[in-house]
Amino acid sequence: MTGYIKKTSGCRSMHIAHYFTGLKINACGICDHCISEKVIAISREEFNSISGRVQEIIKDGALQVDEILVTLKGIKKEKIWKVIEYLLAEEKYRLTRMEK
Ligand SMILES: [Zn+2]
Repeated sequence: MTGYIKKTSGCRSMHIAHYFTGLKINACGICDHCISEKVIAISREEFNSISGRVQEIIKDGALQVDEILVTLKGIKKEKIWKVIEYLLAEEKYRLTRMEK
């Protein structure tokens, strides 16, 4: 599987699906590569502001990540993801992702 190992860009699920089935699928958005692609610079102020809004949205319970992205559509998705990843890593919230 050298193609898979060497390829540093692109979704892992996509590469694996292509390797085994020859089919092209959309980037999953949740593998380590998709996540790391979303790692971008974010200031502490921005983080706190987005984090506050995300927590405001989901304080009533689990919500779809997609719904959060739509609700905060004025903010860059990558930044929202970064905040969500942090909140998930801290196990503050449980979020689900809409099946595509
Ligand atoms: Zn992926």
